[in-house]
Amino acid sequence: MAFDLETSRRTFLKAVGGAVLISAPAAPQLVVPEPPGRKLGWAIVGLGRLAINQILPAFAKCEKSRVTALVSGDPDKAGKLAARYGVDPKNIYNYANYDSVRENPAVDVIYIALPNGMHAEYTIRGARAGKHILSEKPMANTPRDCEEMIDASRKAGRKLMVAYRVRYEPFNQAMIKLAGSRDLGAIKVIVSDHGFNIGDPAQWRLKKDLAGGGSLMDIGIYALQATRYITGEEPVEVNAMQYSTPGDPRFKEVEETVNFQLRYPSGVLAQCTSSYGYSGQNRYRVVTERGWFELEPATSYTNLKMRVGRAGSIEERTMPQIDHFAAEMDHFSDCIMNAKEPLTPGQEGLRDLRIMMAIYEAARSGRTVRLS
Ligand code: NAD
Repeated sequence: MAFDLETSRRTFLKAVGGAVLISAPAAPQLVVPEPPGRKLGWAIVGLGRLAINQILPAFAKCEKSRVTALVSGDPDKAGKLAARYGVDPKNIYNYANYDSVRENPAVDVIYIALPNGMHAEYTIRGARAGKHILSEKPMANTPRDCEEMIDASRKAGRKLMVAYRVRYEPFNQAMIKLAGSRDLGAIKVIVSDHGFNIGDPAQWRLKKDLAGGGSLMDIGIYALQATRYITGEEPVEVNAMQYSTPGDPRFKEVEETVNFQLRYPSGVLAQCTSSYGYSGQNRYRVVTERGWFELEPATSYTNLKMRVGRAGSIEERTMPQIDHFAAEMDHFSDCIMNAKEPLTPGQEGLRDLRIMMAIYEAARSGRTVRLS
């Protein structure tokens, strides 16, 4: 019985196979991808939430960047992540022996993902070790620190970039393009709101020395950046007001909310909010003579949405949703390999720091602060 069944199965397959062979069109040629080109070796400094949840997984999508070293104060965590991402255990460093990365040819670039107040020290040490540096935002706690970071990289003959990831993804790029096209007429006003309700009062984001400030340094910086990259201009005047809920243990050292206004040379006025005190705000809208265009969410990691309103109609624009971190890292690797200036160099981070200091000054003094 078994023999009979097997025989008839073979006969059936032969018949079906024959029919398929006769009627099937010529098999399409398989597209064999090119072998990967050269990838630069990256060291990640600070293995916190950003490194673990975003940066390290992003390397799988990179064409020009691979992770080759880790720097951490926690050897167990670093060892586990090294095993997970194929990093040679001899390329695990701690904060004390970090400078010896100088002798490691497997590391071309260092990505600083530490608390804000540590960016300057680790950038300067990394540059002195002869490496190119990508620093997380905000670039540092003060403009002075930013200047020292720029100086150290220049003296070392290495590049310095600030990790403004949304400059490397299609939705914000489309907003910049539309703004530049003047398709909807001149820009009049930009409204930009960024904020979230921050948790644990003990975290470094709420400590002045590690964070540099409160919501403005962490999340309001996205609101500020958007107004700068949409106008392509630098603001000339700033007004601001800030508020922290009295008695809230989270806001003993840094501010909760800052609302600020910026005047741009072309006449564009920007209205921005930044907060650690209410649930998620993540959007900006550009209001023009003949309509408006907006992103919401605007700077989240995924699911960005763009809408354009004109003459009574609202159109949603779709764009590829890509990994911002992979795009940003590959941009920097490409700049290094091809001797190009990154889109968001150290100077870009310094400009934001100067404006944020002016915002704090305006909020403190209650006066308009002019920027030169
Ligand atoms: P995190 O608290 O999750 O991680 C910080 C890491 O630094 C931890 O591994 C911690 O152990 C280490 N560290 C070393 N010394 C420390 C010290 N003295 N105090 C506290 N931590 C210390 O923070 P995160 O969310 O990963 O943020 C890191 C940086 O990345 C910040 O500059 C932040 O602004 C930036 N960030 C950027 C984005 C973005 O979208 N580009 C998103 C989140 C965070």
